[in-house]
Amino acid sequence: MKNNCPSPARLILDRDALVSNWKTLDRMGGAATTGAAVKADGYGLGAADIVSILYDAGCRDFYVAHWQEAAPLLPFLQDASLSVLNGLMPQDMTNPDLHHPCVKPVLNSMAQVEKWIGAGAGRCDVMVDTGMNRLGLPMNEIDNVMLEQLDIDVCMSHLASADEDIPQNTAQLDNFSIARSAIKARRYSLANSAGIALGEDYHFDLTRPGLALYGGIARAELKTDIRPVVSLEAIVLQVRDLKAGDQVGYNAKFTADRTMRIATCALGYADGYLRAFAGNGEMLLDGQRLPVLGRISMDLIAVDISNIEALQEGDMVKCSYDLQKSAAATGLSQYELLTNLGGRFDRVWR
Ligand SMILES: *Cc1c(COP(=O)(O)O)cnc(C)c1O
Repeated sequence: MKNNCPSPARLILDRDALVSNWKTLDRMGGAATTGAAVKADGYGLGAADIVSILYDAGCRDFYVAHWQEAAPLLPFLQDASLSVLNGLMPQDMTNPDLHHPCVKPVLNSMAQVEKWIGAGAGRCDVMVDTGMNRLGLPMNEIDNVMLEQLDIDVCMSHLASADEDIPQNTAQLDNFSIARSAIKARRYSLANSAGIALGEDYHFDLTRPGLALYGGIARAELKTDIRPVVSLEAIVLQVRDLKAGDQVGYNAKFTADRTMRIATCALGYADGYLRAFAGNGEMLLDGQRLPVLGRISMDLIAVDISNIEALQEGDMVKCSYDLQKSAAATGLSQYELLTNLGGRFDRVWR
């Protein structure tokens, strides 16, 4: 989609913050090794850049969801490994990367175990479902003797509610301990970002953070040390003056009650700046807040610049994209706020 044309909107990505977040999670994870979930193009930020930055920081265990996400990352893996979480579908058996030395399928069912053995096996991961009822071997299949034929690197499970303090966490932990005695693997892994903050019992050999690497705050314990990684900038396409009674945008959802100046900026819901930001979104210029007015269009927003002296076509405004605050204001999750960031942005690492 992208070519050499500069984009009118940019994601400004903070390399030091990404590395710092990985190191923070590594420290919080105690003796466990720390991996990185880079599925959905690194939660929308650009998986290839993230793999290469985190590789340099020392990360060697990466996670994607689909087989199609593996190929673009292979050049950056060197001696690291990439696990494909969604398992082995019939169509994956002819994937050219199926037996790539850096890539491992995560086997989620006995049918997939059989398929993998049929394909000559090789190193793999196994997911056990300890209570989320999403992906993974059910607890009543963990004693299946076929599992002994596998070369399992990581036996893992996924926590459904680590961002909350509810009994499901300890229930999943107990089930995972049972699975750990039943399934022979080199390493065991349970915790995502929030799970790391649940404490040592949840750490095992390897953790798999995603959200917190990218600045998401999944639990209060992460708030002090996790740094924001992404901010947005958009160009001002036009500046105009309003008088009282003038209306702005689709369906006239904003009416000026006084003389105002507004700027139309190149950011919209097609970029992932969803309509949920209407009424609560704001841009920033030199620390001043520029409230978003009226509806968000596909490619455009209008912001109030009445208090700004000199702003003209071609200037850039920043977007306050605090994940926790934006999630609270819009009802979108921090995950959605990241993964919706679209393909039109230039992604600029600083
Ligand atoms: C997405 C995912 C992760 C990362 O979860 P976060 O909540 O983003 O830290 C870890 N493990 C599995 C299996 C996942 O699907």
